[in-house]
Parts: sequence; C-alpha cells; structure tokens
Amino acid sequence: MAERKPLIAGNWKLNNNHLEAIALVQKLAFSLKDTDFDAAEIAVLPPFTNLRSVQTLVDGDKLRIVYGAQDVSAHEKGAYTGEVSGPMLAKLGCTYALAGHSERREYHREDDALVNQKVKAAFAADLTPILCLGEGLDVRKAGDQVSHTLAQLEGALKDVTAEQAARLVVAYEPVWAIGTGEVATPDDAQEVCGALRGRLGELYSDEAAGTARVIYGGSVKSDNIAGIIGQEDIDGALVGGASLKPDEFAKLARLG
Ligand code: PEP
Repeated sequence: MAERKPLIAGNWKLNNNHLEAIALVQKLAFSLKDTDFDAAEIAVLPPFTNLRSVQTLVDGDKLRIVYGAQDVSAHEKGAYTGEVSGPMLAKLGCTYALAGHSERREYHREDDALVNQKVKAAFAADLTPILCLGEGLDVRKAGDQVSHTLAQLEGALKDVTAEQAARLVVAYEPVWAIGTGEVATPDDAQEVCGALRGRLGELYSDEAAGTARVIYGGSVKSDNIAGIIGQEDIDGALVGGASLKPDEFAKLARLG
C-alpha cells in the first residue's frame, strides 16, 4: 500500500490583505514545530494578491510551509480579463491550485467541464490541482452523495492521464458542511472518500489510486481532525475558517 503524506491545506478565501498575510504566516510558522512538517504537508491558500508576499517570506525564512492559489484560469494567456494563469502561479512558487471549490461552482457558475479545463491547466503548469467536489444538502438527504460526487470526479478528470491522476489531490467537501459548523461524521466522510479512491482505481490503476490523496473539507477543527484523519481513505483536510487562526490551524495540522 502506498505511503501518502497527509495534506493540511488552509483556504483563506477572501480574507487578509498582503500585510495581514505576512503576519498570519509568521504566526503560523512560530506555532509550528519542525516535527509537525514530518507528520503532514502544511499548505496555505491565500488570495492571489498575497502570493508574492508569502513567497518572499517562505523563501527568505526557509519555511517548510507550502502555498498555492484558490483558483487557476483554464487559459494560459490571452484576452481573459481578471484571470490568473497556471504558469503565473508556478512562477510564484505555488505548489497547489484549487479547482472547482463549491463557492466558485455556486457564485461563478463553474461546471464540471470548466473544472476539467482548470485541472488540466494546473497540471500543464506543474501545479498540483486540489479538485474540490461534494454534494449539497438535497443530494445528501436523497442518499445520492456517492453517485453525485463520482459523476463530478469523472467530469473533472476527462483526458487527465494516469500519471497526472497519481499526483492529484481530491477534496471531498460536502457543501452543507462548509462554513456551517456541521462536520460530516468520520464514517460519512470515509464512505465518499473510499468511493472516490475506488473510482480512481477503476479509471486509472491501483497504483494511481494508491498515491492520489483524498482529503476532506467542511468545518474541520483541531477537535474533530483526529476522527477524520483516522479513516482509511482520508489523507488530510481542506480547512476554511480554522485556517485563519494560526494557533488553531497549527494544532489542527498536528492532527489533533
Ligand atoms: C472550505 O472553504 O473549503 C472549507 C472547508 O471551509 P470551512 O472549514 O470553514 O468549512
């Protein structure tokens, strides 16, 4: 069975200007011990405008924190006002880019076809996409969470190669659990994460499914991470609100 290092990634959403970003990363670095980075990969995902400042701090202080963006354009360059491309993010030292966060699916009408373009754009720039997917409350109430998320997975991975899939991060984020304080039970999260990994195996290979990381997101905090990370197919967490509090995020990154 492949060794998968857990990923704890903090999605700051639309919070913190670049000066506040520096202060937050400094506090986070101060709260973390060197051994914490042996146990998990710890990432922050600030707004685009903060990436250069975070890069300067990480490089200058030789921090082991990695970082990425909350979105990536489907396009490499051209007449796409307001977009930020994969190569631009790679040049800033980004490791990750989110693709298909539920807030982008909801407020910017991103569908699986566009998310697929973004996943491929991230891979083309040597970034690791964190592909976000998950069901809304209506789907959960109907008991269709597995089929719904598997359809999202297949839509987002069209024409993605096995070699790329092996490097992928999939974030299962039930929409009803994001920012609500309502966390999925470890068993519920495992049900979907296990199905996602199984489908990666069917679409690609056992090897790709064994190295791809499947993480959970939705109201994760230091007091519930242990139950989540204890599940066989869950390799970390995508964290919103709790990632804005450095002490709490550091505790969470220590996996509870
Ligand atoms: C998120 O934004 O991806 C998220 C999971 O948010 P929260 O942790 O606040 O629910």
